[in-house]
Amino acid sequence: MKILVLNSGSSSIKFKLLQMPLEKMICSGMVERIGYEDAILSIKKDEINIQETVPIKSHREGLSIIVSYLTHPEKGVIKNPQDIFAVGHRVVHGGDSFAETTLINGAVKDEINYYSALAPLHNPPNLEGIEIAEKLFPTAKQVAVFDTAFYQTMPVKARKYAIPNTFYTEDNIKVYGFHGTSHKYVSEKAIKYLGRETSKIISVHLGNGCSMTAIVNGKSVDHSLGFAPSNGLVMGSRSGDIDHSVIFHLVDGLGYSLNEVKQLLNKKSGMLGLTGSSDLRDIQAKAEEGDKNCQLALEMNAYRIKKYIGSYTAVMNGLDALIFTAGIGENSSLIRKLTCLDMDYLGIKLDSVKNEKRSNVLREINTDSSQVKILVIPTNEELEIAKQVFNLIS
Ligand code: ADP
Repeated sequence: MKILVLNSGSSSIKFKLLQMPLEKMICSGMVERIGYEDAILSIKKDEINIQETVPIKSHREGLSIIVSYLTHPEKGVIKNPQDIFAVGHRVVHGGDSFAETTLINGAVKDEINYYSALAPLHNPPNLEGIEIAEKLFPTAKQVAVFDTAFYQTMPVKARKYAIPNTFYTEDNIKVYGFHGTSHKYVSEKAIKYLGRETSKIISVHLGNGCSMTAIVNGKSVDHSLGFAPSNGLVMGSRSGDIDHSVIFHLVDGLGYSLNEVKQLLNKKSGMLGLTGSSDLRDIQAKAEEGDKNCQLALEMNAYRIKKYIGSYTAVMNGLDALIFTAGIGENSSLIRKLTCLDMDYLGIKLDSVKNEKRSNVLREINTDSSQVKILVIPTNEELEIAKQVFNLIS
């Protein structure tokens, strides 16, 4: 069964075509810079990498180009769109309506549209991707996999903000959580690896967006992102935790408009605001050359992760495994080292030699005497989506 996984964002569409249940990747790629004359189409198949700069005006055009590549008589991988049995769509916000992966119908689309108010950057392009895919793959089952679904198990005490109750009950202001597909995927791998019936796990997803989830027996009990994907850790260009009085001072005291503050905290802060770059590779290189801002930013980054490890270990009353995943978590031995430094009180002891080794499969990087397993687990959100789609429809 061929399943196409689509992640339709505001200016890009990422896709992966998988053969399920073999979990074999047939082809992957993306179109970026949709809306520009110099949009970029990249396709990866076996050892072949194609990259072309082409004008792509809209998501519809972007997805049509992807389909024409997939069905190309010589270079393509399927004969016609009917060969795709199902399309799995990543949908960022499903609010409280969706605790599970769901077959898409009109009512589901209405709900996704309803939650656009809470995820204005994500849900509208997700929905657009669904509507275009329905036209381009009319025989395929369309399935939505929600980033927020994994957090439906969080207790109310962790989901509710300490503001008047009606904002929770009537206005739906609460912690929704994000990166759920990634945290679910890596924590399930960890649970299998631990081979125990019960487990207390902290999953640390460090990409451009960063988040942490506390997971007891496979169910999330707390999470660092909140109502929107802006709380918690220091991210590529987002500040993470910040005293809300700063926002009032920026507006009332320093004369910034609310929109400027939004841009500032979401697009110009985090590692970018601290160092001038949001790419951790640049920051690490400059820190090595002695750049003080970069050195401090790396320390701040790891310090924030450490604080969350401490609080999640406390709320779970223990910790069996700490997972690092995504671009930074999988690749930056420095961030892992700074984070795990002086954590032996909590039973976390990093093996500095194992930490430096590279691999693209699950690996353990703790010392033999460490009470807590420290695991680096490559995430694969598309595979997780394909698995969930396959389970639903088979
Ligand atoms: P997203 O999916 O959220 O866009 P990724 O998971 O791809 O992000 O992670 C992007 C981050 O990973 C960037 O900050 C990048 O610098 C970092 N990264 C990628 N490779 C490495 C590496 N070898 N060493 C350190 N950081 C890396």
